[in-house]
Amino acid sequence: MVDISPYNNDPLHAYAEGLRSKYLRNRNVLLVQALQFLPYSTNLEVIFRKGYPAWPPTGIQRIANALAGRGLNIKIVDLNYETLEHVFETRAYKPEDSLEILDRHIAEVQPSIIGVSCICMFSDLHAPTNPLTMLLDHLKKLDRFVVVAGGTALNNDIGGFLRREMCHFAVAGEGEDKVRYLMDVLLDDGGKAAPRKGIYFKPADRLEQTDGGTEWAVLTGDLIGTYQSLPIEKYHRVGCLNTFSRFAGMDRPYGVLQLNRGCRARCLFCGVPKFMGRPTRHYPVAEVLAEVRYQVEERGIRHLDVIDDDFIGDRRTTSELIQGLIDLRARYDFTWSAYNGLIASQITEDLLELLRKAGCIGFSMGIESGNPDLLRRTRKPSNLRALRKASDMLQRFPELFVVGNYILGLYDEETFGQMLDSFRFTFEMKLDWSAFAAFQITSFGTAVELERQSDVNRATHVLPARDRPDGEVAIAEGVLAGPDVFRLDPDKVPARRQISQIWFTFNLVSNYIGNKHLRPGGDPAKYVAWVETIQGIYPANPYMPLFAALGRRLMQDHARVPALLEIARTNVDKSDYWRTRFEQFDLMSVLENFPDSAPGAAETLEAMRERYAPWMEADGHLSHKE
Ligand code: SF4
Repeated sequence: MVDISPYNNDPLHAYAEGLRSKYLRNRNVLLVQALQFLPYSTNLEVIFRKGYPAWPPTGIQRIANALAGRGLNIKIVDLNYETLEHVFETRAYKPEDSLEILDRHIAEVQPSIIGVSCICMFSDLHAPTNPLTMLLDHLKKLDRFVVVAGGTALNNDIGGFLRREMCHFAVAGEGEDKVRYLMDVLLDDGGKAAPRKGIYFKPADRLEQTDGGTEWAVLTGDLIGTYQSLPIEKYHRVGCLNTFSRFAGMDRPYGVLQLNRGCRARCLFCGVPKFMGRPTRHYPVAEVLAEVRYQVEERGIRHLDVIDDDFIGDRRTTSELIQGLIDLRARYDFTWSAYNGLIASQITEDLLELLRKAGCIGFSMGIESGNPDLLRRTRKPSNLRALRKASDMLQRFPELFVVGNYILGLYDEETFGQMLDSFRFTFEMKLDWSAFAAFQITSFGTAVELERQSDVNRATHVLPARDRPDGEVAIAEGVLAGPDVFRLDPDKVPARRQISQIWFTFNLVSNYIGNKHLRPGGDPAKYVAWVETIQGIYPANPYMPLFAALGRRLMQDHARVPALLEIARTNVDKSDYWRTRFEQFDLMSVLENFPDSAPGAAETLEAMRERYAPWMEADGHLSHKE
C-alpha cells in the first residue's frame, strides 16, 4: 500500500508488515474488557453481595462500532462480567479462571488480533496481580495474535507497557479514529482511514508514535447493535456500577448512558481534558435517547448512570436530553444518577428542577478541597463561594442524594491544616455524604518522556478502605490514629501512611458521627437507606450497622435495630482491628448501652458530636483567612 498522506508513517508500515506475516491468518478480532477488580485479592463475600463493579464494556463497544463495515468478524468479550458470573455459578474463584474463560473465546473465534481495554486504575500498574498486566502477560505468553491495548489504566504508562513488550500497539486517549487507521495499515486495507497521531509501538529498541491528525473524533453512532451480544439485563445479578446503582435497588437491572466526552475544565490533577478533549463534545441527543429507549424498552434496564465527565458541558443539549428522559419516564419506571459528578459552579435551580422531574436519584460533585488556595491551584472552575451557593440550592432538593468529593494530600504538599479546612467545609456544605479520597500518583517516568506529562497529570483518587479485601485501614507504627489525628501539626505535610488514618477519622466523623441527617431536622430515613447500601460492600465493618441502627432509632423504626446491632457486635467480637477502632472513637459504650428511644439516640449522637465540635465549626481551625 502506498501512503500518500503528508505524514511519514514508514516505521508503522514496516512494523505492521512483520506482524502481518507472523500473526494475521484471518480477519477475526476479539475485543476484551479486562477485570475491574484485583484478581489476586478477591473477597468472595463481597462478590456474593454484588459489591464488585460490573460495568458494561462501553469503551470497546465504541471501538467495535468504529470498526463496523470493514469486513471484520468482531466479538466483544466482557471478561469482568463473565468472570463474576462464573464466580456466582461455581461459588469459588482463582485468577486462572478468568484466563480460562478468555482461552475458550480465543479457541472459538481464532482471532488474529486481540484488543484489550482496562478502565480501572489500581496503584501498582505493572504488578503481575494487576488485571491489565495479568491479561497482557497471558496473551504475550500465547504469542499468537497482534495485541492492541487501550483504556484508562494503560494510558497511565504507555511507555512502560511497550518497553516490557506487553502489547504490540498502545492507543493513547480516544481510540476510535486511531484504531480505524491502525487496522487499515495492519490489514493492508488500502488507506480508508486518515493517519492519526497517538498510536505507540516499539519495533526495535525505540518507542515510536504514529504521525497524523490530532482532531478529536466526531461523536456519532448509538451502541444498540453492540448491546445485542451482551447480557446487560443480567449485570445487576453479579455486581454493581457504584453506590448509586445499589441505592436505586439491588434488583434493578442497570445500564449506562453517555452524552458527552471530554471536559471544559482543566483541573491540574486530572487527565480527562488531555486524553478525552477539551471542551466537551456530545453525541446527537436523538442517538443517546434511542440507546436509552432500547435499554429500557427492550432490555428491561431500570437504572442508568451517566458516565460523562462533564454532563452539563453544553447546557442546552443536556436539557434536551433530560427532557427526553422525562418523556420516556411517562411510560417506563426508571431512575438515573451521575456518579462521575457535576461541576458545582454549573448547577442552577432550573437544572435541579429538571433532574428531579427526570427521575435522577443523585449525583456527585467534585469539591476537592475546602481550602481556597488549594482549590485555586487545582484550577477547578469553582470556588468556595460558588460551592456554598450550590449547597444552598441543593437544600431545596432533598429528593436528590448528593455526594461531595474531596481529595486528601493534594500534590503531596497539603498540610494538615489545609485538610482540616476540607473536613470543616464538609459540615458547611451540608451535603448528604462526603467522599474523601487519598491523592496518589500511579504512573511512572516513562509516560513523562512519551507524553511530557507532569507528575500531577498522573494522579488518581484512592480509597484506603479499598486497598485491602477486608476493608481495614491498617494502623502503621508511628502514625496517629483515631481522634488523635486532630493533634497533628496543622502546618506540617502528613506522610502518606498518616493520610490513610486521617481519611479514616474524617470519614467516620463527617459521614457518621456528624452527618446532617442524624442531627435535629435531618432525614434519617435517607441516611439509613444509603448506609445500608454501602454496608453490603463492607460486610466486616461494624460502624455502618451501628449508625444505621441509630438512624432507625431516630426514625422510630425499631424492628430492624436488633439485627443491625447484632451485625455490629459480631463484627467487633471477631476482629481485634475493629475492637481497637471502636475503642478509639468511644463506640464500644454506644454499642453496649444502645439507646432504646429516638430521644435517647439523639442524645447519644449529640454527645458524640461534642467531642469533635472544635474541628467541625467554621471558627475552629481555619488554616486561612476568608
Ligand atoms: S476533575 Fe472533573 S471537572 Fe476537573 S478536568 Fe477532570 S473531569 Fe473535568
